Amino acid sequence: MTARNPGFSTLAVHAGAQPDAATGARATPIYQTTSFVFNDADHAAALFGLQAFGNIYTRIMNPTQAVLEERVAALEGGTAALAVASGHAAQMIVFHTIMRPGENFIAARRLYGGSINQFGHSFQSFDWHVRWADPEDPASFESQIDDKTKAIFIESLANPGGTFVDIAAIADIAHRHGLPLIVDNTMATPYLVRPFEHGADVVVHSLTKFMGGHGNSMGGVIVDGGTFDWSASGKYPFLSEPRPEYGGVVLHSTFGNFAFAIACRVLGLRDLGPAISPFNAFLLLTGIETLPLRMQRHCDNALAVARWLKANDKISWVNYSGLESDANHALQQKYAPRGGGAVFTFGLKGGYEAGKRFVEGLQMFSHLANIGDTRSLVIHPASTTHRQLAEEQQVAAGAGPDVVRLSVGIEDVADIIADLEQALAKS
Ligand SMILES: *Cc1c(COP(=O)(O)O)cnc(C)c1O
Repeated sequence: MTARNPGFSTLAVHAGAQPDAATGARATPIYQTTSFVFNDADHAAALFGLQAFGNIYTRIMNPTQAVLEERVAALEGGTAALAVASGHAAQMIVFHTIMRPGENFIAARRLYGGSINQFGHSFQSFDWHVRWADPEDPASFESQIDDKTKAIFIESLANPGGTFVDIAAIADIAHRHGLPLIVDNTMATPYLVRPFEHGADVVVHSLTKFMGGHGNSMGGVIVDGGTFDWSASGKYPFLSEPRPEYGGVVLHSTFGNFAFAIACRVLGLRDLGPAISPFNAFLLLTGIETLPLRMQRHCDNALAVARWLKANDKISWVNYSGLESDANHALQQKYAPRGGGAVFTFGLKGGYEAGKRFVEGLQMFSHLANIGDTRSLVIHPASTTHRQLAEEQQVAAGAGPDVVRLSVGIEDVADIIADLEQALAKS
């Protein structure tokens, strides 16, 4: 028999999981414990000194969390992963591992709003400085790199409008300058895009969205691609210099192509502390088992809804990468031939008031500030998430008065369209 590499759907169900060694339980147990008993004093010493792998304390590692980590690493094609409490916690730990005070990184301007706040405001208090670039113009990343630049950060499928970014072009720029490319793959998931195949070095996720997929648990993950040389430039001392608290261990030379994931765990998670709960890890794992089925249905429904909206005379425009006429369609075909994702925006001819009335008129859609639930979700950014901005700022952010954003769910598409139709009649 020849060895087979399991396919994506098989990995989504099985990767990282075995029947429980103690009980035979087939589903991954929720190891709801804070701490783990050592075999003896030498075992304890080896664990604390990083000479042996094992569970010490759930802030740093837990068996339920470990299955989630192995599963996501397998789906992304990475060498190792670290699960944490939220997508924002994942980003915090990645930059804590990379940045020193006074340094900078280049990030795409089109990002999840929470990431724009985290990078632009909170990171300032650590003296870490973001420089914004235009994801449609890779040269705008390169022109801002200097000797204090440590990384480039993009979303594979960018918020808020759902546009694919040319990952390979931006990876080339990062690598020409000896920098790692970090890709937030939340909106696409590895079912649609596998950033490591296009040159990413680190992938982060909010598992809260499509990965968990049911709108019931917060979580985040960092995946190590194992591709980046953290010692070549001397610019990443957490990885390339001896760690005093671990008896002088040098993480990169000791752990090789999964040293970044180890550094995030034994320095970032250990000291900053945003551990994921075993219960959330269990719910997210359960969600991931159906990721391929859900994502395909999300994409198929979204395309049908986008086509229907485009043909409706109350709608002025629809931006969905899956439409053949869309400006982003070529990049969608290159990076995500299975589909354009589930999140997109469209414009109502009636402007601000029509937008409010439309959102209020929907019955099955939930009006809330989230994406990636099984349920269909809607938001009118100008009256909610972007209401504090002046109208010209709203327009620049893709959140003008007429803009409505959908996260299309996995319900029957005829019911989704019927709900949109009755709400449009009232708007
Ligand atoms: C939601 C989201 C985040 C933040 O994740 P949380 O789990 O809410 O902390 C980061 N990036 C993207 C693209 C997101 O949609």
